[in-house]
Amino acid sequence: MPDSRQNVSSAEIIARDAHHNSGLWSPRQAFVRGDGCRIYDADGNAFLDLMAGIAVASLGHAHPALTDAICEQAGRLLVCPQNLANDTRAEFLEALFALAPAPLNRAFLCSSGSEANEGALKWARAATGRATFVATKRGFSGRTLGVLPLTWTEAYREPFEPLGHQARFVGYGDVAELDAAVDGDVAAVVLEPVQGEGGIHPADIEFVREARRITRERGALLVFDEIQSGAGRTGRFLAHEHFGVEADVVTMAKGLGGGVPIGAVLMTDEVAAAMPKGGHGTTFGGNPLSAAAGRVVLQELRGGLLDHVRTVGEHLRARLDALAAEEPRIREVRGLGLMLGVELKEKAAPVLAALEARGVLAINAGATVIRFVPPLVISEAEADEAVEALRGALADTAEARGEG
Ligand SMILES: *Cc1c(COP(=O)(O)O)cnc(C)c1O
Repeated sequence: MPDSRQNVSSAEIIARDAHHNSGLWSPRQAFVRGDGCRIYDADGNAFLDLMAGIAVASLGHAHPALTDAICEQAGRLLVCPQNLANDTRAEFLEALFALAPAPLNRAFLCSSGSEANEGALKWARAATGRATFVATKRGFSGRTLGVLPLTWTEAYREPFEPLGHQARFVGYGDVAELDAAVDGDVAAVVLEPVQGEGGIHPADIEFVREARRITRERGALLVFDEIQSGAGRTGRFLAHEHFGVEADVVTMAKGLGGGVPIGAVLMTDEVAAAMPKGGHGTTFGGNPLSAAAGRVVLQELRGGLLDHVRTVGEHLRARLDALAAEEPRIREVRGLGLMLGVELKEKAAPVLAALEARGVLAINAGATVIRFVPPLVISEAEADEAVEALRGALADTAEARGEG
């Protein structure tokens, strides 16, 4: 089928976009299609995509089964709110709890990560009758006003203060601070099992286990924010499974719909029962389209994709470790599965720009960390290609810095 957009250049799309967008960003590229781990700009240039919309395109671009399921559902039924049952949503929920660990057994479906976290806070308040939250330094909970108090980065919070409530921040891994922060006012401790935005830091296992013990002892809930780390990203369906602890509440979004907007608050029967009937709601949550997309992602994960994430994740990790061993400008390689960070001893932005010039898309996580959150379907050959591009990008920037 001829594509009418093929005649429109990236420059033209960017200029037209600039007239009416919110002004929050200044895009330098215009993408028009994708295929697997490749994404193409309007001028026909191909890029290997290790950003995946920040861990969203879990099945890559234009995955045939995902495309088919979306088209099939669109041609059958798009609208069915959560106060009415729907066949596709019921199947999605069954697939979700075939993968999610006990004691999680119920889900409120919504349309984004922030919305999922907002829901988690409301359920935690309903379940405990308390209103204080404990979050972690470097943690990221989203940008909406309800969850902004739990987002650590001051640049995100300060322009909007006073916020309606304040969270208590504890060091990510600091058991003594956590112990001191969780008192009888605390409704929940909210933790990312692997901090994403904050620099790809996997949690310390003792810290997570202590968080479980302390919250249980003091009547607070333990909420895992798995918006980035969930849906197979780390090689387990949910990253907190690596730590062998049970969650009261888990939030998901990003990769769960393979690109279709979706969010979910997973919870135990006990937590779910605490919310009064009609105590929360949303118009688009659980719509058949996002459920159809999510069902395909879950089918793929059960059908071998989780194993693939572990295998290719280890491969990419080993290649990055090898590069780090010979490259003194790399401070550390961290992460789990296909949620990997390469911390530099310098700013990441120039190296990311050089990577892009070599046809590889990645994104930062903080000032000095290059974040790799590729489609979960990435092959070992594509992972190798990315590592070689990073080697080249480091060489390119060394020359630019006059050290070549
Ligand atoms: C992206 C993200 C959010 C916010 O999700 P949105 O869909 O952007 O609202 C919250 N928590 C974590 C860990 C995230 O990575």
